Amino acid sequence: MPSYIEINNIVFSYDEAITLDHVSLSIEHGEFVAIIGPSGCGKSTLLRLLAGLIFPKEGSITVEVSPVTGPGLDRAVVFQDYSLFPWMTCRENVILALEQAGLGKSKHERIHIAEEYLELVGLCGDGAKMPGELSGGMRQRTAIARALAQNAPILLMDEPFGALDEITRANQQDALLQLRQSGGATGKTVFFVTHDVEEALILGDRVIVMGARPGRIVFELKVELHRPRSHSTALNDENFIEQRNILLKELNTVVNEHIEKSIFVVDGAGI
Ligand code: ADP
Ligand code: MG
Repeated sequence: MPSYIEINNIVFSYDEAITLDHVSLSIEHGEFVAIIGPSGCGKSTLLRLLAGLIFPKEGSITVEVSPVTGPGLDRAVVFQDYSLFPWMTCRENVILALEQAGLGKSKHERIHIAEEYLELVGLCGDGAKMPGELSGGMRQRTAIARALAQNAPILLMDEPFGALDEITRANQQDALLQLRQSGGATGKTVFFVTHDVEEALILGDRVIVMGARPGRIVFELKVELHRPRSHSTALNDENFIEQRNILLKELNTVVNEHIEKSIFVVDGAGI
Protein backbone atom coordinates (compact mmCIF):
# COMPACT_ATOMS: atom_id res chain seq x y z
CA MET A 1 0.00 0.00 0.00
CA PRO A 2 1.42 3.42 -0.89
CA SER A 3 2.00 5.85 1.98
CA TYR A 4 0.05 9.10 2.40
CA ILE A 5 2.87 11.05 0.73
CA GLU A 6 5.19 9.24 -1.66
CA ILE A 7 8.30 10.90 -3.03
CA ASN A 8 9.48 8.50 -5.67
CA ASN A 9 13.01 8.61 -7.03
CA ILE A 10 13.00 12.35 -7.66
CA VAL A 11 15.70 13.90 -9.81
CA PHE A 12 15.66 17.68 -9.99
CA SER A 13 17.97 20.39 -11.39
CA TYR A 14 17.69 24.16 -11.73
CA ASP A 15 20.54 24.19 -14.26
CA GLU A 16 23.15 21.70 -15.41
CA ALA A 17 24.05 20.66 -11.82
CA ILE A 18 21.87 17.99 -10.24
CA THR A 19 20.17 19.48 -7.17
CA LEU A 20 18.31 16.39 -5.98
CA ASP A 21 19.58 12.99 -7.00
CA HIS A 22 17.10 10.12 -6.79
CA VAL A 23 15.38 11.14 -3.58
CA SER A 24 12.72 8.80 -2.27
CA LEU A 25 10.72 9.25 0.92
CA SER A 26 7.46 7.79 2.16
CA ILE A 27 5.54 9.75 4.78
CA GLU A 28 2.64 8.28 6.73
CA HIS A 29 -0.57 10.12 7.49
CA GLY A 30 -0.14 12.12 10.70
CA GLU A 31 3.61 11.71 10.73
CA PHE A 32 5.98 14.56 11.65
CA VAL A 33 9.10 14.30 9.51
CA ALA A 34 11.99 16.64 10.23
CA ILE A 35 14.60 17.25 7.52
CA ILE A 36 18.12 18.36 8.40
CA GLY A 37 21.21 18.82 6.26
CA PRO A 38 23.86 21.37 5.30
CA SER A 39 22.75 24.60 3.69
CA GLY A 40 22.37 24.16 -0.06
CA CYS A 41 21.68 20.41 0.07
CA GLY A 42 18.20 20.88 -1.40
CA LYS A 43 15.86 20.91 1.62
CA SER A 44 13.90 23.94 0.37
CA THR A 45 13.89 22.49 -3.14
CA LEU A 46 12.33 19.29 -1.86
CA LEU A 47 9.74 21.32 0.02
CA ARG A 48 8.93 23.37 -3.09
CA LEU A 49 8.48 20.14 -5.05
CA LEU A 50 6.05 18.89 -2.39
CA ALA A 51 4.25 22.25 -2.55
CA GLY A 52 3.82 21.77 -6.31
CA LEU A 53 5.69 24.96 -7.17
CA ILE A 54 8.36 23.19 -9.21
CA PHE A 55 8.38 19.78 -10.86
CA PRO A 56 10.89 16.94 -10.97
CA LYS A 57 12.82 15.98 -14.07
CA GLU A 58 12.40 12.34 -13.14
CA GLY A 59 10.30 10.55 -10.57
CA SER A 60 6.99 11.52 -9.02
CA ILE A 61 5.31 12.84 -5.92
CA THR A 62 1.89 11.66 -4.83
CA VAL A 63 -0.40 12.66 -1.98
CA GLU A 64 -3.04 10.03 -1.27
CA VAL A 65 -2.04 8.35 -4.53
CA SER A 66 -2.78 11.51 -6.59
CA PRO A 67 0.17 13.10 -8.36
CA VAL A 68 1.08 16.61 -7.19
CA THR A 69 0.35 18.83 -10.19
CA GLY A 70 0.50 22.23 -8.50
CA PRO A 71 -0.18 24.00 -5.21
CA GLY A 72 -3.28 22.88 -3.33
CA LEU A 73 -5.34 23.73 -0.29
CA ASP A 74 -4.36 20.35 1.16
CA ARG A 75 -0.80 21.69 1.66
CA ALA A 76 -0.11 24.81 3.72
CA VAL A 77 3.39 26.23 3.32
CA VAL A 78 5.58 28.35 5.56
CA PHE A 79 8.41 29.56 3.33
CA GLN A 80 11.92 30.14 4.55
CA ASP A 81 11.66 33.86 3.77
CA TYR A 82 8.22 33.99 5.50
CA SER A 83 6.77 36.10 2.73
CA LEU A 84 3.70 38.12 3.67
CA PHE A 85 1.74 40.59 1.57
CA PRO A 86 3.41 43.83 2.69
CA TRP A 87 0.38 46.00 1.95
CA MET A 88 -1.87 44.03 4.30
CA THR A 89 -1.86 43.97 8.08
CA CYS A 90 -0.87 40.77 9.88
CA ARG A 91 -4.51 40.01 10.54
CA GLU A 92 -5.47 40.60 6.90
CA ASN A 93 -2.69 38.26 5.79
CA VAL A 94 -4.20 35.52 7.96
CA ILE A 95 -7.77 36.37 6.91
CA LEU A 96 -6.78 36.05 3.26
CA ALA A 97 -5.65 32.47 3.89
CA LEU A 98 -8.99 31.76 5.56
CA GLU A 99 -10.85 33.22 2.58
CA GLN A 100 -8.76 31.22 0.12
CA ALA A 101 -9.47 28.04 2.10
CA GLY A 102 -13.19 28.90 2.30
CA LEU A 103 -13.08 28.99 6.11
CA GLY A 104 -15.19 31.16 8.39
CA LYS A 105 -18.82 31.91 7.69
CA SER A 106 -18.66 35.68 8.00
CA LYS A 107 -16.09 38.45 8.04
CA HIS A 108 -16.60 38.71 11.78
CA GLU A 109 -15.91 35.01 12.24
CA ARG A 110 -12.79 35.18 10.06
CA ILE A 111 -11.44 38.05 12.16
CA HIS A 112 -12.09 35.97 15.27
CA ILE A 113 -10.31 32.89 13.87
CA ALA A 114 -7.39 35.02 12.64
CA GLU A 115 -6.98 36.49 16.13
CA GLU A 116 -7.00 33.00 17.65
CA TYR A 117 -4.12 31.91 15.44
CA LEU A 118 -2.22 35.15 16.01
CA GLU A 119 -2.58 34.53 19.73
CA LEU A 120 -1.33 30.98 19.32
CA VAL A 121 1.92 32.28 17.80
CA GLY A 122 2.26 34.93 20.51
CA LEU A 123 1.09 37.91 18.45
CA CYS A 124 -2.01 38.80 20.39
CA GLY A 125 -2.54 42.53 19.92
CA ASP A 126 -0.28 42.81 16.87
CA GLY A 127 -2.92 41.99 14.25
CA ALA A 128 -3.29 45.57 13.05
CA LYS A 129 0.42 46.03 12.37
CA MET A 130 1.85 46.01 8.88
CA PRO A 131 4.57 43.41 8.12
CA GLY A 132 7.08 46.25 7.70
CA GLU A 133 6.49 47.24 11.32
CA LEU A 134 7.42 43.80 12.62
CA SER A 135 10.69 42.09 13.46
CA GLY A 136 11.78 39.11 11.33
CA GLY A 137 10.65 36.73 14.06
CA MET A 138 7.21 38.36 14.26
CA ARG A 139 6.79 38.18 10.49
CA GLN A 140 7.79 34.55 10.62
CA ARG A 141 5.17 33.85 13.29
CA THR A 142 2.52 35.65 11.23
CA ALA A 143 3.39 33.36 8.32
CA ILE A 144 2.99 30.37 10.66
CA ALA A 145 -0.39 31.68 11.87
CA ARG A 146 -1.45 32.06 8.24
CA ALA A 147 -0.43 28.49 7.39
CA LEU A 148 -2.10 27.04 10.49
CA ALA A 149 -5.29 29.02 9.84
CA GLN A 150 -5.59 27.40 6.43
CA ASN A 151 -6.25 24.18 8.36
CA ALA A 152 -4.70 22.00 5.67
CA PRO A 153 -4.02 18.33 6.45
CA ILE A 154 -0.40 18.78 5.37
CA LEU A 155 1.99 21.41 6.72
CA LEU A 156 5.18 22.14 4.80
CA MET A 157 7.41 24.28 7.01
CA ASP A 158 10.79 25.62 5.90
CA GLU A 159 12.90 26.58 8.94
CA PRO A 160 9.82 28.27 10.43
CA PHE A 161 11.48 29.06 13.76
CA GLY A 162 14.87 30.01 12.33
CA ALA A 163 14.56 33.74 13.03
CA LEU A 164 13.29 33.38 16.59
CA ASP A 165 15.25 33.95 19.77
CA GLU A 166 15.77 30.90 21.97
CA ILE A 167 12.87 31.45 24.37
CA THR A 168 10.34 32.34 21.66
CA ARG A 169 11.53 29.38 19.64
CA ALA A 170 10.98 27.00 22.58
CA ASN A 171 7.51 28.50 23.10
CA GLN A 172 6.65 28.04 19.43
CA GLN A 173 7.90 24.46 19.48
CA ASP A 174 5.64 23.82 22.48
CA ALA A 175 2.69 25.48 20.71
CA LEU A 176 3.20 23.26 17.66
CA LEU A 177 3.56 20.13 19.82
CA GLN A 178 0.46 21.06 21.81
CA LEU A 179 -1.53 21.80 18.69
CA ARG A 180 -0.83 18.33 17.38
CA GLN A 181 -1.34 16.67 20.75
CA SER A 182 -4.46 18.52 21.84
CA GLY A 183 -6.51 17.49 18.85
CA GLY A 184 -6.52 20.82 17.03
CA ALA A 185 -4.15 19.51 14.45
CA THR A 186 -4.58 15.79 15.01
CA GLY A 187 -3.80 13.92 11.90
CA LYS A 188 -1.76 16.75 10.43
CA THR A 189 1.18 15.48 8.48
CA VAL A 190 4.19 17.76 8.83
CA PHE A 191 7.27 18.12 6.63
CA PHE A 192 9.54 20.33 8.69
CA VAL A 193 12.88 21.66 7.46
CA THR A 194 15.33 22.78 10.11
CA HIS A 195 19.07 23.18 10.48
CA ASP A 196 18.79 22.47 14.20
CA VAL A 197 19.37 18.86 15.29
CA GLU A 198 17.76 19.43 18.69
CA GLU A 199 14.66 20.98 17.14
CA ALA A 200 14.36 18.04 14.74
CA LEU A 201 14.39 15.65 17.70
CA ILE A 202 12.09 17.70 19.92
CA LEU A 203 9.40 17.84 17.24
CA GLY A 204 9.87 14.90 14.91
CA ASP A 205 8.64 11.33 14.73
CA ARG A 206 11.42 10.74 12.24
CA VAL A 207 14.50 12.75 11.26
CA ILE A 208 15.86 12.62 7.72
CA VAL A 209 19.46 13.70 7.13
CA MET A 210 20.30 15.01 3.68
CA GLY A 211 23.72 15.32 2.08
CA ALA A 212 24.76 17.85 -0.56
CA ARG A 213 26.21 17.96 -4.07
CA PRO A 214 24.08 16.35 -5.14
CA GLY A 215 21.24 16.60 -2.62
CA ARG A 216 20.21 13.17 -1.40
CA ILE A 217 18.96 11.37 1.68
CA VAL A 218 21.84 9.81 3.56
CA PHE A 219 20.34 8.72 6.88
CA GLU A 220 17.14 8.51 8.81
CA LEU A 221 16.38 8.09 12.49
CA LYS A 222 13.17 7.11 14.23
CA VAL A 223 12.82 9.48 17.18
CA GLU A 224 12.56 7.50 20.41
CA LEU A 225 11.44 10.26 22.77
CA HIS A 226 8.28 9.90 24.83
CA ARG A 227 5.06 11.56 23.73
CA PRO A 228 3.27 13.70 24.73
CA ARG A 229 6.31 15.88 24.46
CA SER A 230 7.31 19.43 25.21
CA HIS A 231 10.54 21.29 24.56
CA SER A 232 11.74 20.61 28.11
CA THR A 233 10.54 17.00 28.49
CA ALA A 234 12.21 16.17 25.17
CA LEU A 235 15.53 17.71 26.29
CA ASN A 236 15.36 15.68 29.50
CA ASP A 237 14.33 12.43 27.85
CA GLU A 238 16.69 9.55 28.61
CA ASN A 239 17.23 8.94 24.89
CA PHE A 240 17.81 12.56 23.89
CA ILE A 241 21.59 12.76 24.19
CA GLU A 242 22.17 9.45 22.47
CA GLN A 243 19.88 10.32 19.56
CA ARG A 244 21.35 13.80 19.25
CA ASN A 245 24.85 12.35 19.10
CA ILE A 246 23.85 9.91 16.37
CA LEU A 247 22.43 12.76 14.29
CA LEU A 248 25.37 15.08 14.95
CA LYS A 249 27.77 12.37 13.79
CA GLU A 250 25.84 11.88 10.54
CA LEU A 251 25.54 15.61 10.01
CA ASN A 252 29.21 16.11 10.67
CA THR A 253 30.07 13.58 8.01
CA VAL A 254 27.90 15.24 5.35
CA VAL A 255 29.00 18.76 6.27
CA ASN A 256 32.70 17.81 6.06
CA GLU A 257 32.10 16.06 2.77
CA HIS A 258 30.27 19.19 1.57
CA ILE A 259 33.20 21.43 2.56
CA GLU A 260 35.62 19.20 0.67
CA LYS A 261 33.44 19.34 -2.44
CA SER A 262 32.88 23.12 -2.07
CA ILE A 263 36.59 23.80 -2.31
CA PHE A 264 36.39 22.82 -5.96
CA VAL A 265 33.38 24.90 -6.94
CA VAL A 266 33.20 28.58 -7.66
CA ASP A 267 29.58 29.39 -6.87
CA GLY A 268 30.49 29.68 -3.19
CA ALA A 269 27.28 28.16 -1.89
CA GLY A 270 29.25 26.79 1.08
CA ILE A 271 27.64 25.70 4.29
P1 ADP B 1 18.70 24.26 1.29
O1 ADP B 1 17.29 24.65 1.51
O2 ADP B 1 19.04 22.87 1.75
O3 ADP B 1 19.67 25.25 1.84
P2 ADP B 1 18.09 24.80 -1.50
O4 ADP B 1 17.03 23.81 -1.86
O5 ADP B 1 17.65 26.18 -1.25
O6 ADP B 1 18.97 24.23 -0.29
O7 ADP B 1 19.15 24.83 -2.67
C1 ADP B 1 19.75 23.65 -3.21
C2 ADP B 1 20.72 24.06 -4.31
O8 ADP B 1 19.98 24.61 -5.39
C3 ADP B 1 21.74 25.11 -3.92
O9 ADP B 1 22.94 24.81 -4.56
C4 ADP B 1 21.14 26.40 -4.43
O10 ADP B 1 22.16 27.31 -4.76
C5 ADP B 1 20.41 25.93 -5.69
N1 ADP B 1 19.21 26.74 -5.97
C6 ADP B 1 18.19 26.98 -5.12
N2 ADP B 1 17.23 27.73 -5.70
C7 ADP B 1 17.66 27.96 -6.96
C8 ADP B 1 17.13 28.67 -8.08
N3 ADP B 1 15.95 29.28 -8.00
N4 ADP B 1 17.86 28.70 -9.21
C9 ADP B 1 19.05 28.07 -9.30
N5 ADP B 1 19.61 27.38 -8.30
C10 ADP B 1 18.94 27.32 -7.13
MG1 MG C 1 16.51 26.28 2.52
